[in-house]
Amino acid sequence: MTTTPEPPNRRPQRRRRRRRLSIDDYVQGVLKGDRGVLARAITLIESRKDSDRPAAQAVLQALLPHTGAAVRVGITGVPGVGKSTFIDAFGMHLLEQGHRVAVLAVDPSSAISGGSIMGDKTRMQRLGMAEAAFVRPSPSGLSLGGVTRRTRESLLLCEAAGYDVILIETVGVGQSETVVAEMVDTFLVLMLPGAGDELQGIKRGILEMADILAVNKADGDNRLRAQAARQEYQAALRYLHRRDPHWKTPVPLISGQTGEGLPEIWETIGLHRAQLQETGTFNQRRSEQRLRWMWDAIEEQLLSAFHETQAVQAQLKGLEAAVKNGERPPTVAAEALIAVFRESYSSSSQSSPS
Ligand code: GDP
Repeated sequence: MTTTPEPPNRRPQRRRRRRRLSIDDYVQGVLKGDRGVLARAITLIESRKDSDRPAAQAVLQALLPHTGAAVRVGITGVPGVGKSTFIDAFGMHLLEQGHRVAVLAVDPSSAISGGSIMGDKTRMQRLGMAEAAFVRPSPSGLSLGGVTRRTRESLLLCEAAGYDVILIETVGVGQSETVVAEMVDTFLVLMLPGAGDELQGIKRGILEMADILAVNKADGDNRLRAQAARQEYQAALRYLHRRDPHWKTPVPLISGQTGEGLPEIWETIGLHRAQLQETGTFNQRRSEQRLRWMWDAIEEQLLSAFHETQAVQAQLKGLEAAVKNGERPPTVAAEALIAVFRESYSSSSQSSPS
C-alpha cells in the first residue's frame, strides 16, 4: 500500500483534535462575531462533500434573519490596477470610522490554474491583521458558478457576524465582474491613468456596470495623466447605456497608496445607496439578486448531479467523441444524455422513496 506524504504546511494532529461544531455552535459563534467560527462556517459552506450540505444549509437558514444590513460593494479592475492596495487602505479608513469590514474575493482563475492569484498572504496586510476586519481569499478549485454561490453565502455569514461593510473583490477576467456586479449594491471599477490605451482594451460592459469609475494611482507623476484619463472616461460614459438612469457615474481620482480620495469614495457609496433607496431600486435589486441566486444554485446543482450520474458517465466519453468527429449532431447527443440522466434519476427515486 502506498501512503501519500502530508504536504508540509498541513498540521494533521491539530486538525484531528479540533472539536466538531454543532449547528448551534456555528450559529451562536457567528452571531457573536467569533472570527474563528466564522472562518469555519465559511469552510463548511465551501465544502464539496454532500454530507456537509445539510449542516451548511441549516446554518444559513438560521442566520438568514440576521443578514441584509451591510453595505455591499464590488471592486474590480485589471491585475496591477491597485485593488489590494486600495482595499487595504480603504478598509483601514473604514475601521477608523468605527465600521467592521469583511473582504471576500471572487477569483475564477483559481478554477483554471488550481492556484489563486488573490490567495497570497502579502495582500491587504494591515487589514488582515486588524481586529475588526475579516479577509477571506477565494475558494480554490471551483468553477466560477461554484465560487459565486459560495461567495454569496459567505457574504450572508459575514453580515450575520456583524460586518457592516462587505467588499467583494474580483479580477476583471471573464464573467467574474458581471457576477460580482449582480451581488452588490454599488460596483466600483478601478482604472489606471493612461486612458487612451486603456479605453481600447477595456470591455465596454465593465464601464456600463460601474456605479463609480475611479482613476487609481492618481499620485506623483501620474496626476496629470489621471486628470486626462478622467476626461476621457467621462466622455466615454456619456455614450454608454446607463444601468440606472437616475445615477450619473462619477469618475473620481484616487490613490490607494497616498489615501487621497478614499474618504470621498465612501461618501459617494453612501450617496449612491441613498439614491437607490429613494427610487425604490435598492429593494428591487436585492430581490432580483435573490432570485438570480436561486437559479444559479439550481443550474449548478443540476449540472453536478448530471456529471455524478453513473449512467451518464458511462456514455459521456463515447458521445463526446462522436460529436467531436461529426458523427452525431450535438443536439442529438445532448438529448440522449439528458434522457439517460432522467431515466437514471426516475429509477433511483422510485427505488428510494425517502
Ligand atoms: P492588484 O493586482 O490590482 O491587487 O494591484 P496591487 O495593489 O497589488 O498593486 C500593483 C502595483 O501597483 C504594486 O506595485 C503597488 O505598489 C502599485 N500601486 C498600488 N496602488 C498604487 C497607487 O495608488 N499609486 C501608485 N503610484 N502605485 C500603486
